[in-house]
Amino acid sequence: MKEMIRNNICINAHPKGCGLYVQKAVSAVKKKDRFLGPKNVLVIGCSTGYGLATRIAAHLGSGAKTLGVAYEKAPTGKRTGSAGWYADLYYREAVEPQATTLNMDAFSHECKQAAIDEIKKTMGTVDLVIYSLASGVRIDPDSGVRYTSALKPIGSPYTSQGVDILGNLTQIHVEPATDEEIEHTIKVMGGEDWELWIRALLEAGVLSPQALTLAYSYIGPEVTKDLYRNGTIGRAKEDLESRAKAIETSMTNLSGKAFVSVNKAVVTRASSVIPSVPLYLSLLYRVMKSKNTHEECVGQMDRLLREKLYSGSDIPVDEHNRIRMDDWEMSPDVQEIVAEKWKTIGDLPLSEIGDIDGVYTEFLHMHGFGYPSIDYSLDVDLQAVR
Ligand code: NAD
Repeated sequence: MKEMIRNNICINAHPKGCGLYVQKAVSAVKKKDRFLGPKNVLVIGCSTGYGLATRIAAHLGSGAKTLGVAYEKAPTGKRTGSAGWYADLYYREAVEPQATTLNMDAFSHECKQAAIDEIKKTMGTVDLVIYSLASGVRIDPDSGVRYTSALKPIGSPYTSQGVDILGNLTQIHVEPATDEEIEHTIKVMGGEDWELWIRALLEAGVLSPQALTLAYSYIGPEVTKDLYRNGTIGRAKEDLESRAKAIETSMTNLSGKAFVSVNKAVVTRASSVIPSVPLYLSLLYRVMKSKNTHEECVGQMDRLLREKLYSGSDIPVDEHNRIRMDDWEMSPDVQEIVAEKWKTIGDLPLSEIGDIDGVYTEFLHMHGFGYPSIDYSLDVDLQAVR
């Protein structure tokens, strides 16, 4: 079986390779000492990227029981399941056999109720709730209206150099978003659903007295600012970040806390489709790897839990009450070199200035491809991750 990539999306996945991807993340956490962290964790968006990494770090780092929510495609006929389907299957088979994943639309009332029922049955309460959804669409659970997010600049067009995931240079031109597209993106990727989740969990009495909840955000560099942070998705992230205080206030009967963690740019299914991000990632990876500060998802989330949330000291935050896991990415000595390299794109081969091979390999790995230990010419059992 070969990878099938269209527009920076890999439309198939290799079951055993996806298992191997999870196994590698598991091994990275197992090498470290245990820490005193969360005991019962709900991860919304648990099957890939930062959500899966947090689940692994919490379970293996501090022995937490986890409940996951994801929305993944099972294999049908000759079509493979999605990468997240296999990663989650491997997680439940090989890493935490008692764990449950609800494969449901997290935006729906039914999913929230199913999570509450499961928490009552198996955990009683949860002390950490991670909100790590990345979705292009959301159906409002009350009105039934379907909202679609857009990745667009606001006010004026965005034009930039780019690169596809295979390393081919491209020109990016994106027209500005309409007011409706801005509003829809906020509906999908803003904080409304995070707030609904916490309200539902509070009303059901399944948050422990000192519960923490965390949602993930991104800021990023100057070179992607007009498209990302000042664009539609940035507006959604501002909305998400602005809701942390209201969420914390709603937890008044508990001594709970709500934070946004601004994470580092990494290769995930969600980030690969953002124009100019693969190019930025390739430059960033080259610089951070040379400085020995590069982290993949699991390294970031292990550091988040171990050193920021459960270190025993006050949780360090910036002036907007955000935890800055992008501290190493955004440090001036990294960003200055990335900006210099950006100016040379087109003049020098990308392989010389960036780590496009590293980005592509990570992209392949998360879909189960590119592992020398797997013989991709063999027939594949679409149901078996081991
Ligand atoms: P991802 O695509 O790897 O994971 C998204 C998860 O959401 C998957 O588990 C998927 O199954 C789940 N999901 C999507 N729609 C769902 C639905 N309707 N119901 C239930 N589950 C659903 O994405 P990621 O890159 O890990 O992003 C997670 C969060 O981290 C996002 O908020 C993103 O903005 C943020 N973040 C990402 C980066 C990055 O570089 N990738 C950097 C900083 C912050």
